[in-house]
Amino acid sequence: MKKNIFIGGAWPYANNSLHVGHLAALLPGDIIARYYRLKGDEVIYVSGTDSHGTPITVRAKKDNVSPKDIATHYHNEFKKNFEDLDFSYDLYTSTMTSQHASIVQNYLKTIRDNGYIYEKTELQDYCPKCQNYLSDREIIGVCPHCGGTAKGDQCDSCLATLNANELLNKKCSICGTATIEKPNVHLYFSLSKFQNKIDSLIEKRSKQWRNNAICETKKFLEMGLIDRAVTRQLDWGIEVPFQGFEDKKVYVWIEAVLGYLTAGEQVAQSRGIDFKEFLKDGNVISYYAHGKDNIPFHTVIFPSLLMAIDNKINLPDYIISCEYVNMNNEKMSKSKGNLISINKLLSMFPKDSIRYYMISNGPENKDVNFSIDNFVLVHNKFLVGVLGNFVNRNFSYLNKKFGGVIKEAKIDEEIVKLTKETYDEVATLIEQGKLKLALDTAINYVNMGNKYYNENEPWNQAVNDIEGFYNTSYTCAYMIANISNIFAPFIPETCQKIKDKLAIKDQASWEEIKLKGDLKICNNDLLFERLQLPTND
Ligand SMILES: [Zn+2]
Ligand SMILES: [Zn+2]
Repeated sequence: MKKNIFIGGAWPYANNSLHVGHLAALLPGDIIARYYRLKGDEVIYVSGTDSHGTPITVRAKKDNVSPKDIATHYHNEFKKNFEDLDFSYDLYTSTMTSQHASIVQNYLKTIRDNGYIYEKTELQDYCPKCQNYLSDREIIGVCPHCGGTAKGDQCDSCLATLNANELLNKKCSICGTATIEKPNVHLYFSLSKFQNKIDSLIEKRSKQWRNNAICETKKFLEMGLIDRAVTRQLDWGIEVPFQGFEDKKVYVWIEAVLGYLTAGEQVAQSRGIDFKEFLKDGNVISYYAHGKDNIPFHTVIFPSLLMAIDNKINLPDYIISCEYVNMNNEKMSKSKGNLISINKLLSMFPKDSIRYYMISNGPENKDVNFSIDNFVLVHNKFLVGVLGNFVNRNFSYLNKKFGGVIKEAKIDEEIVKLTKETYDEVATLIEQGKLKLALDTAINYVNMGNKYYNENEPWNQAVNDIEGFYNTSYTCAYMIANISNIFAPFIPETCQKIKDKLAIKDQASWEEIKLKGDLKICNNDLLFERLQLPTND
């Protein structure tokens, strides 16, 4: 039966180029989406650019352009990056669109009608020198949990999500003046009312959420959930849909995370699907792919908002939260200058090598070290040495000695069994979000192909046992055809090339390909070229 699958990729923030860390966090979403589509399920896979908030306004001020210019520039860059890497979003949008704004405004009205948004007059941090109320991010200070330097919304040292009021020794991040407090009216979201509900959600999802998601969420709950401001004093953002708040904007944390709903709704609408029904608990399986630092937003804040909107909505089933990609055992950061951007990666390597590497050596369960040397090694060892080699050794021999014709013959029964098992195993692992193991299983299938080839020695069979040679070749062709399905979620371009070689007309699917009749190899192109280590630049 056709299933509903909802996949949300985290919304990258539009004030800097994407780097390998983003890619590691987001690529799993695409693998999962491609797999379910191959199975024939109804997939809605969305993401977009997070385009509002202070870092963009700060950056715009610095560059002397408008916030919209900054956000548009990065949105276009992100979009191109994702296209270049074959991401298959059903919609990659931006929080700047009018559709997003109006759907967010409707949700805010619903949340307020349901009693989870209230007004509060409070003293707000004010910079007497800049003559401005300061947003959380415009305040710097000392983290109350770890004593490290923190911004008003999150501590960079211990990752605690903060409220600016918790910070010690507060200063204006723009001019460095100590802040004073002045009264201001804001809207608040009653996050504190969801403490117990999130607690029981963790219980329910204990087998589906990744370990880091469970741990980070528990840590977050232990600190106690605190109501969060919905509005902020800023020019750049979505209008607050309530009277008396014309001088404020919707806080970026609430509208960006609601982007999953606003984007999903647009896709559903374009297909004539009732999104509310689609996303109803029990009707859908949902996945959310992002990095470790984004966990509380997806396991606490987003589910609380969903419950505040409608308690029948599905809450995140699978949290696909990756760990960090480090450079030389150091956390990557702009200030350290050790970021490798996606632009740079794409200028050096084929997209399928990037996709393969970021899953096989990605930070699925623990931090990983990224290095170009290791990248080249993995590409040469697995893509050239295992996968490319299996296809190439078969086809080049058949081209040379048999005019590229693969005669219909008997397919080894053990191999058929292995093939079916591989489909099942890879499927189960992908559905559980265990992509690294899924890819290992797929590569092991090719290893078995190479082993089968070596054991049968078709180059000898061709001389001594022509029936045996036809069987071996046809069995290998059968494996190669099925490789083009099994690897399709991971390296789609390569899989299409394999299909082209064998003139397989059918699109990829999650079903065993059964060969019929003689086959003709259509081209001699190598699937992968061996890479050289780059010389120092
Ligand atoms: Zn801290
Ligand atoms: Zn100031």
